Amino acid sequence: MKQKWIVFLLAVMLMLSACQNAPDPAQTSVPEESRTQEGSQAAAGTLSGIGDIITNLSFPAEETQAPTQAPTQAPTQAPTEPPTQPPTQPPTEPPTQPPTQPPTQPPTEPPTEPPVIIVPPTPTEPGTTQPPTQPPQLPDDQPYDAPDVPLSQLWKVKTTDSLNLRLRPSATAARFEAVPAETVLYLYEDLGEWSAVIYKEKLLYCSSAYITLMQQDPSETGSKLIVIDAGHQMHTPADVGYENNPAAYEPDGPGSEIYKLRVSSGTAGVVSRRPEYEITLEVALRLQAELEYRGYRVYMIRTTNDVDLSNAERAQIANQLGADAFIRLHCNSFTDPEASGALTLCQSKENPYNAHLYAKSRMLSERIVSNLCAATGARNQGVTESDTMAGINWCSVPVSIVEMGFMSNPDEDALLCSPLYQQKLAYGMANGIDSYFASQADLGQ
Ligand SMILES: [Zn+2]
Repeated sequence: MKQKWIVFLLAVMLMLSACQNAPDPAQTSVPEESRTQEGSQAAAGTLSGIGDIITNLSFPAEETQAPTQAPTQAPTQAPTEPPTQPPTQPPTEPPTQPPTQPPTQPPTEPPTEPPVIIVPPTPTEPGTTQPPTQPPQLPDDQPYDAPDVPLSQLWKVKTTDSLNLRLRPSATAARFEAVPAETVLYLYEDLGEWSAVIYKEKLLYCSSAYITLMQQDPSETGSKLIVIDAGHQMHTPADVGYENNPAAYEPDGPGSEIYKLRVSSGTAGVVSRRPEYEITLEVALRLQAELEYRGYRVYMIRTTNDVDLSNAERAQIANQLGADAFIRLHCNSFTDPEASGALTLCQSKENPYNAHLYAKSRMLSERIVSNLCAATGARNQGVTESDTMAGINWCSVPVSIVEMGFMSNPDEDALLCSPLYQQKLAYGMANGIDSYFASQADLGQ
């Protein structure tokens, strides 16, 4: 076991040194205006996806700065994407013959077992939501091709009864196939009453009430790997602009032309004056202990303050390790000292880099923030979706950024420095992680 870890660590170190030694990106010229537009569109997209004042409060200290001016010379060579994991077994094919019992309509009687409730991010009326990958011009009698995402990163679900798979999320939509109970599907998106599933390389729709998340392999129980990133670090590069020091910047996503500081200095306590990187590490160490006590495997991105790891590099470590959940700890800051509370961040379902991880990251984020607030009494500021953060965009594993409280608020500053409160934070987050994994278990078993 230990040897395996050493091999893992060596591999990670090799990877990191490869990243750091990579030659400077090749240069191409991109018109200045087009880059500026991209930057402002990205910013506008973020703002439009976020609500009112809570969200204004909720922008994390780490990446509050507007995206750095795009470099005068953009790299043509995007950083290497981490390898995606091979897909797991393809779903079991249903019998080619139609099932002997062809009750193709979902039964009118509710099943005896209560269906698993998959927490829908935003409940939607069936028939009104278009799938993200939908080509708008496709006629209603044509099925959509399955989106190009690794099935290993989607939840496996199975049907609890014979069930119609339809071309669109509507009971009147054309039927693709009637599948028997116990058919394995891959959940692409939960639309509330309807679910988008991948089956026979098509994106199809079925009633959410008649599918259930599959129980995890019992041999995996207790072997979940949680990677914890204590945000920021002691020494950080100065934000002098990409032109003046390109090495201090990195793209905010694989192949992106928007550059951000590799790692920013973070905030500091308005009264305590303690730097954010110290607080995040203290809580991270407590979270590690709490999770290991509960039987998880834990990998710490850093255990000291004096490291040099960019946000993208941290994400790539979690990717390489195949983390089951990647938890990034931060503290918030805002100009209004009254601002308070905790929130979590994940990508939106439109994220250009890892939208297929939206459902998992969203649920992870919801479970963490609600349990953290229950354990600490902190004000629950909910989940914010953002596609402009390198810390999220580089992830190929489920991720949640936890803004544990506002260091700009004198009361929360004191709490965040308190060992007792830090322990409550760790306990609450661990409950949220438990709850996230429990949500994947099959309630019918
Ligand atoms: Zn931060």
